[in-house]
Amino acid sequence: MTLNSNKEDDFFIADILSKNKTIAMVGASKNWKRPSNFVMKYLQKHGYKVIPVNPSSAGEKILGQLCYSSLEEIPFEIDMVNIFRPAKFCPSITKEAIKVGTKTIWMQLGIISEEAIELAKQNNKNVIFDKCTKMEHSRLSGSLGLAGFNSNLISSKRSITLSPPPASRNGGIFKSNELETLAVHAGTRPDSTTGSRSMPIYQTTSYIFDDTDHAASLFNLQEPGNIYSRLSNPTVSALEQRISALDNALGACCTSSGHAAQLIALFPIMEPGSKIIASSKLYGGSITQFTKTFKNFSWEAELVDVSDLDAVRLAVKQPEVRALFAESLANPDGNISDISSLADIAHNAGIPLIIDNTMATPIICQPGKFGADLIIYSTTKFLSGHGNAMGGAVVDMGKFKWDSGRKFSKLTEPDSSYHDISFYETFGNHAFINYCHACALRDLGTTMAPLNAYLTLIGLETLPLRMKQHMKNAEIIAKFLNDHPKVSYVSWAGFKNNSYHQLAKKYFNGGFGSVFTFSLKGDYDAAVKLVESCNLISHLANIGDTKSLIIHPASTTHRQLSDAQKEKSGIKNSMIRLSIGLESHKDIIQDLNGALEMV
Ligand code: PLP
Repeated sequence: MTLNSNKEDDFFIADILSKNKTIAMVGASKNWKRPSNFVMKYLQKHGYKVIPVNPSSAGEKILGQLCYSSLEEIPFEIDMVNIFRPAKFCPSITKEAIKVGTKTIWMQLGIISEEAIELAKQNNKNVIFDKCTKMEHSRLSGSLGLAGFNSNLISSKRSITLSPPPASRNGGIFKSNELETLAVHAGTRPDSTTGSRSMPIYQTTSYIFDDTDHAASLFNLQEPGNIYSRLSNPTVSALEQRISALDNALGACCTSSGHAAQLIALFPIMEPGSKIIASSKLYGGSITQFTKTFKNFSWEAELVDVSDLDAVRLAVKQPEVRALFAESLANPDGNISDISSLADIAHNAGIPLIIDNTMATPIICQPGKFGADLIIYSTTKFLSGHGNAMGGAVVDMGKFKWDSGRKFSKLTEPDSSYHDISFYETFGNHAFINYCHACALRDLGTTMAPLNAYLTLIGLETLPLRMKQHMKNAEIIAKFLNDHPKVSYVSWAGFKNNSYHQLAKKYFNGGFGSVFTFSLKGDYDAAVKLVESCNLISHLANIGDTKSLIIHPASTTHRQLSDAQKEKSGIKNSMIRLSIGLESHKDIIQDLNGALEMV
């Protein structure tokens, strides 16, 4: 069987890793900072016999093993050849591997040789390419989850961390692509020692080292694991895995708030003097964060109407631009982004597209499917759902090539705080999320608390169900308001005449969200009066709660904006934002009706 980087092949990789125990590593380096040395050390620790093959070190020992100059010189049988050499050398190495009778040819992350793949296939060998043995082993055995990566696997059996992955479908793992199942299971296997079915709250700051070598391996980023909860924590990483599973993404990094997620997402890609192009219709707090506070880091932000694709195309041409940022469904006015077109524009300019998917949630929209590279959540909202835990998440689809396009030096150049490794060379597509934990959270400290991660995990279990009911209620309330004589306009994308209706049909699944605005025929004072007259609906600055919420943006969330910015963001004085909750729609209507009578 040939692996072509398809998620369906997880069982195949697990099988290879559990059956191929003697590995010849071609291109193994004695320099402990090189990726091959990292991988060799990890595999040795996990029970593999690794034989280094490298003519320039032949006769010497690498990590205690005698190094040979070629595969043919190895005096015993080897199961697998793991190639750490450029693609052009792979066909001849594969021929040699076939000659010595190996079962499997594995080309490392970033190495693809069609000729070698064809040769291996013709000779009935297993072949894997463009994957890292260490990362695949740690992903499938669960330990890479500690760094926030989604394993693609769920299980109702105790986890057996640090042991080789299961040999077959009966090894206790299950795969699902269904959001309802992932929302309940992803990231949370029963606890390995206690059997606890609910994810424990790991209320700890730090983690024991087995010995100094183990500590060094963790600090060198040679193996995944926990050091200190500012960087990672098992309850938080369970949530990271669940959130990334819901977006079918590579991994995630959770943060103390949605705003912190924006900071952590931009930190690895921005430098003093670089610029972000952001939608002018963003949540007001994000506009303030981008245009005022980020200036303190000498990061510039230019706001553009992202529905004007030519304007976006022009803006991203500026060489200092490093990212394009928009909301899938904008807070408060319900503007919907044309995600595929924005992704094409960003990618043509060599920059990632970042989508804030807080209002839509992965249940309605999965921006990664349409080309977004990074996805941001304020988990404070629908993801937790109960309005009791602040939090945020940065989700990485793992597709953006950080070494092409514009310069992203923090990811591609030697990092002096980690003995000069390059994150992208060492971790490939895992570089971004590793950098978020290992550098951004380490130094900015905007870490999510384990209790908040636990509450958000519980909330996520019902997200698919809640979103259905939120949207059912929202539709009824939007129609009620639309028919009300005191209401001049309802900005809900479900209406056929709404300017975002077609985009919603293209990008959304099952509804149009449950946050929308409406405007009164009256002015600023009428809007204030209405908000203050609600007795069931809560007047507060949040969205996505089970309780219905109301706010007047001009006097609250967007009051920090200048008149020009308000105008650009589409904020009018008579506009009111509603976040429709899960109460009976009859009671929500009764409350709104009563409040409208007071206006
Ligand atoms: N993004 C959107 C769309 C939001 O609505 C918010 C908050 O309202 C944020 C980001 C910021 O999230 P937090 O309040 O969790 O920092």
